[in-house]
Amino acid sequence: MFRQVKRRTAGRRNFEGAQDAPLLLPSHRLSFYEVPPTEELTLEQFESWAIDRLKVLIEIELCMARGRLFRDTEAALRPLLQKLLPLGTWPANNKVSADDLRKDFYSHFILRLVFCRTEDLRRKFVRNETVLFRIRYNAMQPKEQHQFITDHHDKLPWHYIDSEEKNALADQLYAAAAATVRAALSAESESSITNDQLRAHFRTENFIKVPFEKIVSLVATRLVLLKDGYGYVPSTLQLSLLSLEFLEHLLRDLLRTFQAIPRLEEDDRLLPLLNHLGQNFASMEYDPAFGADPSLVSDINAVSVATPAITKHYPLCAKHLQTNMMAQSHLRHEGRQQLSLFLKGIGLSVDEALKFWSHSFTSGPHAMTPERFNKEFKYNIRHTYGLEGARTNYKPWDCARILLRPAPGKNEYHGCPYRDMSVDALSSQLGEMGVGAVDLKSVLGDVERKDYTVACTRVFEITHNVQAEHIGHPNLYFDRSRQLERAKTEA
Ligand code: SF4
Repeated sequence: MFRQVKRRTAGRRNFEGAQDAPLLLPSHRLSFYEVPPTEELTLEQFESWAIDRLKVLIEIELCMARGRLFRDTEAALRPLLQKLLPLGTWPANNKVSADDLRKDFYSHFILRLVFCRTEDLRRKFVRNETVLFRIRYNAMQPKEQHQFITDHHDKLPWHYIDSEEKNALADQLYAAAAATVRAALSAESESSITNDQLRAHFRTENFIKVPFEKIVSLVATRLVLLKDGYGYVPSTLQLSLLSLEFLEHLLRDLLRTFQAIPRLEEDDRLLPLLNHLGQNFASMEYDPAFGADPSLVSDINAVSVATPAITKHYPLCAKHLQTNMMAQSHLRHEGRQQLSLFLKGIGLSVDEALKFWSHSFTSGPHAMTPERFNKEFKYNIRHTYGLEGARTNYKPWDCARILLRPAPGKNEYHGCPYRDMSVDALSSQLGEMGVGAVDLKSVLGDVERKDYTVACTRVFEITHNVQAEHIGHPNLYFDRSRQLERAKTEA
């Protein structure tokens, strides 16, 4: 997939047709991702495929952080998977295009390179990929599931017992596994299962014989029969066994990838991409194109950005900065950068920005003179818009970047309030935004777990009364809020 020698990209940007070896794609839509791909691909494909998979994993992470049930996670993921990593229709049929398989295969291996570097990243990647594996397995037709198991029998250290063994152990199997099977059947049919129905099911239920050490957690909870060093697992729990195999394989392979990384690090084309992807996967979700939705920015100007009609769409970080700037007639450097770029992202032009900042600094109890503003701060605002110095067109900061920067000191208001405010101050701010006592507890729980963007997304959901995808950018918060308002007005 990538060369392990140092080589420049010049002249090799288009790899079309330049294949080192034919790619061995998995024969199923589900895969243990055993053999790394060897075909070359363009850097653009490398990055965009990885980002698409990241978006899926972020959504899984978010669902789990919110404590959603597996079936709700599955339902939330379907549209995203169909859009970003489609592997046939849903529920799955057998038509999977080679291009889709290729993208799935490559994106998985690319993200291994990103997530193999620390234990925390490995854990996160394995957890989310395993959920994805489960979702895909459930989407397959029973025939395809069976075929998958058959094709991988050499890797799975378990087998189905025959009817003779099952009959000999019938009573013990029922005593050990009845509760587990009943729970699984009830969840599937969404109704309670009678004893007769359960008995009838056991007559057709298959059991898998697994070495004891592979199912320690099941044995510990007495959910399966244990005999002569083997556990007997009902096939209703087959997916748990498969997931466990997938998880163990992936964890082992990630460690191997980590050990191979020093050789890869000679490659100066991929490292910046991998670092970029690894630094903050939440930020991949949104990239404000310097001016948000063009249909929504026409009313953004020096006056309107100080009115509730616009500020009600701000996330807490922007609200906190602007409120304190108004009160102090001043904002220190870090806060000016954060707010100025946010305002640029929502569509405030440089001329309107100069008016807005000038007015804010030269009015109120701590006002400075217009001359001082022009001398000390005008350059800074123009610089933000790429009109001074190196003329870089700076992008609004995403949450990860904000969270990476130093926390605010005395008389500073930058950063993320979910991280930087005291619990009392945060609770009071959230109360003003309309977050009630019960919801407040959940938000503070996220904060305690340091899931700041999850807390912010939850607040968005509560205050807008919607289910939202993960928010990892203040400008995304603003845009979504305005779009929702517009949709309501037009309805
Ligand atoms: Fe702002 Fe992001 Fe913190 Fe929300 S999570 S307040 S958008 S920095």
